[in-house]
Amino acid sequence: MRRSLERAVVGRPIADVRLLRREVVAMPDDPPGGFSRARTERPGPIRRVPKQDLLAGQRIERVSRHGKQLALVSDAGRVLNVHLGMTGQFLCSGAGQRLAQADHVHVVWRLGDGGRLAFRDPRRFGGIWTCRDEADLLSRRWGMLGPDAATIRASDLAAGLRGSRRAIKAALLDQRVIAGVGNIYADEALFRARILPQRPGGSLTGAEVAALCRAIRAILRDAIEAGGSTLRDYRDAEGRAGGYQDRHSVYGRGGQGCRVCSGMLESAVIGQRTTVWCPACQR
Ligand SMILES: [Zn+2]
Repeated sequence: MRRSLERAVVGRPIADVRLLRREVVAMPDDPPGGFSRARTERPGPIRRVPKQDLLAGQRIERVSRHGKQLALVSDAGRVLNVHLGMTGQFLCSGAGQRLAQADHVHVVWRLGDGGRLAFRDPRRFGGIWTCRDEADLLSRRWGMLGPDAATIRASDLAAGLRGSRRAIKAALLDQRVIAGVGNIYADEALFRARILPQRPGGSLTGAEVAALCRAIRAILRDAIEAGGSTLRDYRDAEGRAGGYQDRHSVYGRGGQGCRVCSGMLESAVIGQRTTVWCPACQR
């Protein structure tokens, strides 16, 4: 998503922005989770979001990422932090073209060349956090996250797991321990590293942590090269589906044959998520 967004928007000036649903945006002094995620709180008067906070009149200089979150950084140093949640996506269109989809579009940026960029999110678990600058992004948002999964070192993962008694599968899903691993890639990495997902995180040996770390990085690299995994509706900013879903070894394959040993894959709920593993390959 980061790569496609960078290709689609970097360098294009933003002429104007339209915010169609205020709750998808959280400003620095809004409730911590933003309005849509704080229905039980009384947020007080809802302030308008100034257009320049949404990068109007600026140019996107780069798109960065930490874990599952994106940051659009403007030439004025302002930052939009985006979490796509479950169904969030970006749509892009060229001059004179319509957006591929018009429903559930919450923010539309009109680009100087006549094209459009839109943030769409049917289920609205995602959101946009406006940040004054990158220091604000780090202090309010990214400072809470663990090391990025695509580049994490074994020593950092070992530190995050030290003394942990919960299942390694649950620990891998905790974005404070390691940022960027979700249910699919946690199962795939544990299979590749031959580690049983129920093992307490703190019980892994140094060699096992190192193997798991290598597996996580390799799987994410391969999945990113393949454009990600499209199970239902994931598309990148240029509208392309991923190709990695056809290469899953265990995810979504409970009850089917292991691709390594032909034994039957098992599944159970661990850390509130369906987990699939091979009882013969992962001991
Ligand atoms: Zn097997």
